[in-house]
Amino acid sequence: MIKTVSVCLTTILIVLFLVNSNDLLAAQKKIKIVTPPEAPPIASGYKSRMGINGQMRSQTHQGIDIIGKDGQPIISVAPGIVLESTIEKCWGPTIAIDHGNDFNGEKIIALYGHLGEMLVSAGDKVQRGQLIGRLGNNQYDFKCIFKIRHLHFQIGREYTTNKNGWGSGYFLKDWNNGRNPHYYWSDGEGLITCYRDGVKYREGSITYPVPCE
Ligand SMILES: [Zn+2]
Repeated sequence: MIKTVSVCLTTILIVLFLVNSNDLLAAQKKIKIVTPPEAPPIASGYKSRMGINGQMRSQTHQGIDIIGKDGQPIISVAPGIVLESTIEKCWGPTIAIDHGNDFNGEKIIALYGHLGEMLVSAGDKVQRGQLIGRLGNNQYDFKCIFKIRHLHFQIGREYTTNKNGWGSGYFLKDWNNGRNPHYYWSDGEGLITCYRDGVKYREGSITYPVPCE
């Protein structure tokens, strides 16, 4: 009897695993990341438990953080339409852009958070590489910037117009399921791709949200 139950349970677990394995593998897959020497480095990575301020995070990181100087230009990672430019109470000035579909046909909604200055507004059409904002001197003014001036860049699938949430939850329904940006670089998985004028980039791919030197 016990043996039958245990065989049944094992079968159920195997079936559940097979059903979920694609999602699980996608979520757990570790991508090797190559940062070009001229690209400002990622200070706190996707899924990192370590915050930008060196303290442990309360949940894993849903995006990537890039530190910059006051006035650091922030550029659009792909063509798109601006959904909103909002000063969110914890995140500070944040731009949400609908970048259309990725190369697998799934939506890319990008958040460019903790800005100092926003240079585009809702409804604006943006080009890849276009200057959309700058970092500022407000790292002490908003709790979620944690006193370190930086860009937080995050990819979601579902924008929300229900404004009951805060932080990323103000912009995204799937705020706690940030997609791995390293899947989408134009040069290929894990290959951080600097934006260069005049280069033709693969549709549905992204380039780095800060200019490379
Ligand atoms: Zn962040």
